Amino acid sequence: MKLPDNKGYFGEYGGKFVPEVLVAPLAELESAYAEAYADTRFWDEFNALCHNWIGRPTPLYFARQLSAKLGGATILLKREDLAHTGAHKINNTLGQGLLAKRMGKKRIVAETGAGQHGVATATTCALLNIECVVYMGEEDIQRQSLNVLRMKLLGAEVRPVSSGSRTLKDAINEAIRDWITNVSNTYYLLGSVVGPHPYPMMVRNFQSIIGKETREQVLAEYGNLPNYIVACVGGGSNSIGIFYPFVDDSPIKLIGVEAAGKGLSSGKHASPLMAGRTGVLHGARSYLMQDEHGQVLTTYSIAPGLDYPGVGPEHCYYKDTGRVNYTSVTDNQALDGFHLLSTTEGIIPALEPAHAIYYAAELAKDLTKDQIIIINLSGRGDKDLDIVSKATGVRL
Ligand SMILES: *Cc1c(COP(=O)(O)O)cnc(C)c1O
Repeated sequence: MKLPDNKGYFGEYGGKFVPEVLVAPLAELESAYAEAYADTRFWDEFNALCHNWIGRPTPLYFARQLSAKLGGATILLKREDLAHTGAHKINNTLGQGLLAKRMGKKRIVAETGAGQHGVATATTCALLNIECVVYMGEEDIQRQSLNVLRMKLLGAEVRPVSSGSRTLKDAINEAIRDWITNVSNTYYLLGSVVGPHPYPMMVRNFQSIIGKETREQVLAEYGNLPNYIVACVGGGSNSIGIFYPFVDDSPIKLIGVEAAGKGLSSGKHASPLMAGRTGVLHGARSYLMQDEHGQVLTTYSIAPGLDYPGVGPEHCYYKDTGRVNYTSVTDNQALDGFHLLSTTEGIIPALEPAHAIYYAAELAKDLTKDQIIIINLSGRGDKDLDIVSKATGVRL
């Protein structure tokens, strides 16, 4: 069966848990997306810009030294770090930006935590000549000043959010409020496979270009499908993007790696699939980090992009059905993965995929050369150098 169903459910997860005022805007979005999805001209334009502007297809790179050092499997890296702006997020902002344009929207609103989604959105809005407003918590603005500057240079307006904890979840509330107020001319651009239907489905479909390319590349170069695909899971978009075109190939083991922060037992982590319970957040049912009263807990990870208390509904479904295995990796282990790839391949990874690198490196040791592991290298590490030098001052 093709998921989600027509109400936006992946099994018992997903759906549209929204106030009455959002019912009509979501219905408008759903029908506009359905029309775009069926229109080959829409995909022709998306694919052309993916090629000329994002730089796709990104390489599937054989990590020769890394593979040799671990002595086990053949390790391949899907190089989303080489996509324009340095991560996979641009695939989704381009797709939704084109959809907004097609819907005749003159304005895009988005929220951002660490600023990566804000930068990708501002980049896309500059290309498509659409006004861009990004909501960002004051706390995050302090921590991520370089990304604030980037967004401003790209012509976006960054609106500071001073309510609540002054971080991502408060920024989400403000962006939604703006959307409700200005829905006739405004498009709300969500950054991962979360939120109410149709966002998890749309974002998956735009990001699945990663997996489609990977499939063609691995078949062309190795004549075989891989044995394992490993990707980090924050909201879940880069992982769904690479997993989705392989979901029906049951022998292929799919592994999603969450952030264990300072350890699952410390409570300081961002692992809703490993240590959460089901509940409703930001318009959808999913596994969530929450206390016994259903209060959403604050999350923590050294990787800014993994620091979110919920996770996409499709991942929740794959967890329950067992199609994907989920695991978690701590800050310190991710830092090991970060150094390992930097020194063996001359590629400085973002801290998010460094979680996947660590896991894959452990896995590789027990495998043989004829077995292929593909790691989704979701982004480059330039954005994280400050965090890494603070965390490992001695080692650097
Ligand atoms: C944002 C981000 C992530 C986490 O988001 P997903 O939706 O889970 O992919 C992972 N890697 C990088 C480089 C990011 O910027």
